Amino acid sequence: METTRQPDIFIASNRLPVTVQKQPGRVEVERSAGGLASALRNVGGVRAWIGWPGAAIEVAQRATVQARLQAEGLVPVFLSADEERSYYVNMCNGTLWPLLHYFPGSIEFHDRAYEVYELVNRRFAATLLERVGKDDVVWIHDFHLMLVPALLRAERPELRIGFFLHVPFPSQELWRLLPQREELLRGLLGADYIGFHTADYLRHFRNACLRVLGLEAGADSLLAHGRRIGLGVEPLGADVAHFQGLLAGDAVARHLAECERRWHGRRLVLGVERLDYSKGILPKLRAFARLLETEPARREDTVMLQVVVPSRAENRSYRLLLEEIEREVGRINGRFGAPGRMPLEFVHRGIEPAELAALYRHAAVAMVTPLRDGMNLVAHEFVLCQGHPVPAGSQHRGVLVLSEFAGASLSLLRALPVNPMDLAGLASALGAALAMPVEEKAERTADMYERAVELDSAAWAARFLRRLDRAAAHNTATRRAVFDAAAGDEIVRRCRAAPLRLLFLDYDGTLREIAQRPEQAAPNAELLRLLARLAALPATEVHVVSGRRRQTLLAWLGNLPLWLAAEHGFARRRPGGPWTEPVVVDRTVLARVEAMLLDACEQVPGSHLERKACGLAWHYRLAELGYGSWRARELRSALDELLRDQPFATLAGHAVLEVRARGIDKGRYLAAALAATAAPAGAFVLVAGDDRTDEDMYQAAPADAVRLHVGGPLAGTQALPTPADLRRLLAACADQITPR
Ligand code: UDP
Repeated sequence: METTRQPDIFIASNRLPVTVQKQPGRVEVERSAGGLASALRNVGGVRAWIGWPGAAIEVAQRATVQARLQAEGLVPVFLSADEERSYYVNMCNGTLWPLLHYFPGSIEFHDRAYEVYELVNRRFAATLLERVGKDDVVWIHDFHLMLVPALLRAERPELRIGFFLHVPFPSQELWRLLPQREELLRGLLGADYIGFHTADYLRHFRNACLRVLGLEAGADSLLAHGRRIGLGVEPLGADVAHFQGLLAGDAVARHLAECERRWHGRRLVLGVERLDYSKGILPKLRAFARLLETEPARREDTVMLQVVVPSRAENRSYRLLLEEIEREVGRINGRFGAPGRMPLEFVHRGIEPAELAALYRHAAVAMVTPLRDGMNLVAHEFVLCQGHPVPAGSQHRGVLVLSEFAGASLSLLRALPVNPMDLAGLASALGAALAMPVEEKAERTADMYERAVELDSAAWAARFLRRLDRAAAHNTATRRAVFDAAAGDEIVRRCRAAPLRLLFLDYDGTLREIAQRPEQAAPNAELLRLLARLAALPATEVHVVSGRRRQTLLAWLGNLPLWLAAEHGFARRRPGGPWTEPVVVDRTVLARVEAMLLDACEQVPGSHLERKACGLAWHYRLAELGYGSWRARELRSALDELLRDQPFATLAGHAVLEVRARGIDKGRYLAAALAATAAPAGAFVLVAGDDRTDEDMYQAAPADAVRLHVGGPLAGTQALPTPADLRRLLAACADQITPR
């Protein structure tokens, strides 16, 4: 019996969770604390972690580094110094970081940066492909590796691929500035599941895919290449166990005693961030100065410590920012300090974990004021240390002042929210935090502590992997439903063997890809040739069943010996024959419908009206994203009201709202065509469609008919990813049968 193996999990991130130090004659590897590394530590089944070791390792040393890392389940992807500059410094930090953090003015464009970004992404993908089995799980992290999902998918369709974005995703208006906006989105769409810190980032990403790639979307999914890509909100919190462990230890107690000695009688306002323009360090310092100006007593009883962790020193703008921060610190101390008492202390270095935990614990206020931050773990860590049980008799309830532009603000709802652009608002929030009654502080902290514990990084990782599994299972099931070579062969065999063949083919989205404008979807020579070949087969009827007007079908397909059904079957035509209309409809109400739709055309730029013989269609594919569908919903309910007792009904299609005669649908057309043919037993009936209007055909078709649904899974049908796949299958049928 075949046993199913538990899948192995492979992690890929820009940096490995270690620091590699080169010593003369040997390499030292040190595990990094916190962050992703600890989030993933307790996840079972992690087989390997692929990433850049951080330093440029000379070729001669690479084998040693590789062997040393292998023992820890780590696989290095090496970069030359040139690659590091183009991929990491220029593309990731120079272009993508400011774009993703809403700093369009700071975006740099460097020659070759994207080219090398792609090359490095390919190297990551190749490193993974050498190791992963076909059913394994790959979890890719962050904006450095956006192309990796699609590169993997192209080689291994069965892989379960997840992606988590650790930074914000900006509004599509900003995203579109990027010359490679399409490539990067397509890269991500190789994943089965994509996680974001907040619903805003998810919505922005979804909108970008709709706007830039014209994809179809559900509320929390996208459809691309016949696969459904799940989108989820997965806020990542801090490493709870790590901080609880620290707080229980002696080192923190020692540091706390030191804090008491150092700032005796003065309350601590704390700032901790990596040096970065997105972090809002200057506005925070200026707000502190504003408070000292308006509340002079605070110069005596308050002290601010700003910790700036060194970062990206290779970048000139970061060096300039540091200089500006240092000047501001000097100014504030010059203005508000007194001999032996500086109101603002500043350190530019990393801090040991135990000291950091003690600072979080000791602080009266943490000022977390980024202009934009994907999540912000400092806020979570502060809450964890503040909320940790306090020994009897002591009180350490601090207040979190938190920018509403940090992802954390959507999780830590009881913080004091601030807009870092509003200096007066920042200063008054800081004043309010310092004056807050102890009961209120305790209550807010307790509330946020609970939330911070829930978002624990280890729980986050387990949650993400569960959701990835669910999303991937859906795609696996769909892939099985999509006919593989064997199912395709079976269809061809049945088609060839049948005494009579009846093909019912929808046009737009089924035989032909959807185009931006309806008139651009005319058949090309290849499609015309295919239809002609099918129609020339013996004992074969080819019906093109469309919602389009008869004039269009006639102009495009009128020269071929096809059965044509226009307007969902309202008008019909045998090959070469005249059009007939099976029902007589009172069309009086259409004048009022037309007036309403013309109104909508005026109000929604980019939308237009299509007049059919027995109906009207309002198209909004080219209208501003979301606006068209929003107005369509309103319009539809008004029309439903109007048409309640009329012989017409509304029908919503792909970016189109139609009003068509009741009692007319493609299913009825198919039933009538079958009845007219008196199909013998064993007749081969094939129905192919792509949207709601085609489902009527699937239902009306005989039980043993072949039902093919293009573009995605649908119960009771076999899914085909694209119109091209359908054309290939139909061509394969034609190849097997000798024409008349
Ligand atoms: N941190 C650190 N060294 C320090 C001070 C802070 O490693 O000297 C850690 C801090 O504990 C937090 C992380 O750096 O986990 C900062 O994460 P955050 O999400 O706030 O910002 P990022 O730097 O990722 O933009």
